[in-house]
Amino acid sequence: DRIARRQDREFAEFRKRLKDTEQFKLDDGAFDDATYAAVYKLVQDEHVGAMGGPISTGKEANVYEAHDAEGGDVAVKVYRINASNFKQMREYLEGDPRFEGIRGDKKAVVLSWTRKEFSNLQRAAAAGVRVPHPIAVQRNVLVMELIGQEGDAAPTLSDVNVENPETAYEVVREYVRRLYAAGLVHGDLSEYNIVVYDGELVVIDVGQAVTIHHPNSDDLLRRDCRNVANFFARQGADADPDELYDYVTSN
Ligand code: ATP
Ligand code: MN
Repeated sequence: DRIARRQDREFAEFRKRLKDTEQFKLDDGAFDDATYAAVYKLVQDEHVGAMGGPISTGKEANVYEAHDAEGGDVAVKVYRINASNFKQMREYLEGDPRFEGIRGDKKAVVLSWTRKEFSNLQRAAAAGVRVPHPIAVQRNVLVMELIGQEGDAAPTLSDVNVENPETAYEVVREYVRRLYAAGLVHGDLSEYNIVVYDGELVVIDVGQAVTIHHPNSDDLLRRDCRNVANFFARQGADADPDELYDYVTSN
């Protein structure tokens, strides 16, 4: 009981410290008490040492820079439990054998979604697709490799001058093919969800990626192929959506 009270006090102190951090003065409600508790658990497990400022604030999630226990850089993605589009999120969980029979309420959906992103990162990496290395997941909080450097997160493909569009297109084609061969369709692939760092293209934002069992996986794949091929065609590459789709699906 004394231990429990001490733990409560330590947690309260941690939360206060985090809330008082300069970067969190502008916190827009992504952090409810349970989210602080999740970050606290990640700190105890040494996946997170100190939280840094936001890299990105979105409707679904915020992404922050952080240090791990050893001072190395990590990225922390915090999904909003109060996501406004959880009905849409629920649809993306459909037909996924990994998430059969989950409860349909907002909290359950967002927690599954976070675990889904973690497991999609693992699966993509195993398939040979360059993604941020997944480190830990706790409730609605995902810790992964930071692409780029502290204070200087990698830009998205949409924000850089693509020097060699033919070569970059080849790389992304291969990523889409490998993902598909591993049973996954990204579902939101475009120049906005690929970051560029150190000469590498890194696919991010795989939370919505579905398995090929999903009723809409084919439509989503066609849209991914369209986004990717059209982007590279605009950059001057010889790229065509139908040709990409055929390449990806013809093992
Ligand atoms: P959006 O709705 O803007 O697409 P999102 O909630 O879907 O955001 P992500 O696309 O995963 O979240 O991440 C948002 C932004 O944060 C990315 O565009 C990228 O700039 C940055 N980001 C995400 N993950 C990482 C990472 N591991 N390393 C560096 N930057 C990252
Ligand atoms: Mn995104």
